[in-house]
Amino acid sequence: MNVELSPDHEGFRKVVRDFAEREVAPHVQRWDREHHFPVDVVRQMGELGLFGITAPPEYGGAGADFTSLCIAIEELGRVDQSVGITLSAGVGLGITPIASFGTAEQKQRWLPDLVAGRTLAAFGLTEPEAGSDAGATRTTARLVDGEWVIDGAKAFITNSGTEITSVVTVTTRTGTRPDGTPEISAILVPSGTPGFTVEPAYDKLGWHASDTHGLSFDGARVPEDHLLGQRGSGFRQFLATLDDGRIAIAALALGLTRACLEQSVAYAGQRQAFGAPIGSNQGVAFPLADLDVAVEGSRLLVYRAAWLRDSGADRAEVKRAAARAKLYATEAAVTATRVATQVFGGYGFIEEYPVARFYRDAKILEVGEGTSEVQRLVLARALGLPVG
Ligand SMILES: Cc1cc2nc3c(=O)[nH]c(=O)nc-3n(C[C@H](O)[C@H](O)[C@H](O)COP(=O)(O)OP(=O)(O)OC[C@H]3O[C@@H](n4cnc5c(N)ncnc54)[C@H](O)[C@@H]3O)c2cc1C
Repeated sequence: MNVELSPDHEGFRKVVRDFAEREVAPHVQRWDREHHFPVDVVRQMGELGLFGITAPPEYGGAGADFTSLCIAIEELGRVDQSVGITLSAGVGLGITPIASFGTAEQKQRWLPDLVAGRTLAAFGLTEPEAGSDAGATRTTARLVDGEWVIDGAKAFITNSGTEITSVVTVTTRTGTRPDGTPEISAILVPSGTPGFTVEPAYDKLGWHASDTHGLSFDGARVPEDHLLGQRGSGFRQFLATLDDGRIAIAALALGLTRACLEQSVAYAGQRQAFGAPIGSNQGVAFPLADLDVAVEGSRLLVYRAAWLRDSGADRAEVKRAAARAKLYATEAAVTATRVATQVFGGYGFIEEYPVARFYRDAKILEVGEGTSEVQRLVLARALGLPVG
């Protein structure tokens, strides 16, 4: 049994870590304060090949494994969660659905620029009245004279309103099945489509340098061939998208827990109180020992889930591994930010110290791509429990 990543993976990790420390770390405090979406860094990440990690080579991608994507997200997340989620959503929610389910024409139209980081795509699943219960989608799409006419709204959509966003994939109700359940289909809506409005950016607790908007559709029309995959397959598509997304968010959380541990250990070793480093107190040192376990636990769960995904394991097994990784790693990250800000004392409450930003950024990890409760639901059902 080998639970270590390959030398190639570790070499790639070093490339991303160097990039994050050189191009991201010096600027993140300002981006966070100014709620600035760093489009230039997104382009640089594209040039480095990060958006194309898993994409097919014929569209400019590296065709590498999902594990590599998780490594990149972890390393970016260790420095800044906003930049980490921009990559995670850009690939997992933007590129992968088109690469996995798109027609040859759709791939040719959208992927080369997305893979190069010249443009971004988003995935609109959540609605103002349908989040955890995503199957309750109310946005409708009607086929009229060879065009889909879309009406409705989406909420909290990452990367949907940047100056380089080219397209948003939205889940819609395209009809009702014979058993009365909604027929859900995904449709590609290019930015700038008349009737498609990107609402003003949310005023968020954290992830200030990431782009998040509500979207509204008022008779927005796109050609019939903008349907992604088969009509009625939207539910299956977004379940697959979410499994990947959960592993990716767990990797993002792992980066955050590592950052909290590294910075807290350094601070506890040099900050003096009562004539000694604060780390000489068990009350400070033991929570950091617990974070060491959290990092290792998160790492094993994240990369086992990614490995199962890469080795083509049974979908139910990947789904379960993704839920375990997401649940554990994100809750550990929230705990890690609470421990880190406590170790930093009053300075932990001051924005000059990254742990203050980490504290604000962590909470959403327990919510996005399925809340902790939803992960527990998935896991409890997998245990055979008759939970609703
Ligand atoms: C910054 C940000 C970025 C996001 N990016 C995207 C994106 O790019 N694309 C996208 O589609 N969505 C995105 N989301 C949406 C996110 O995935 C949803 O917010 C999340 O799935 C929860 O849905 P909700 O907010 O409607 O909460 P609700 O579903 O209303 O849940 C509210 C509470 O009730 C609990 N709950 C609900 N049902 C149950 C149940 N059966 N059992 C126990 N507890 C339950 C939940 O766990 C939660 O605690 C983003 C959200 C944010 C804040």
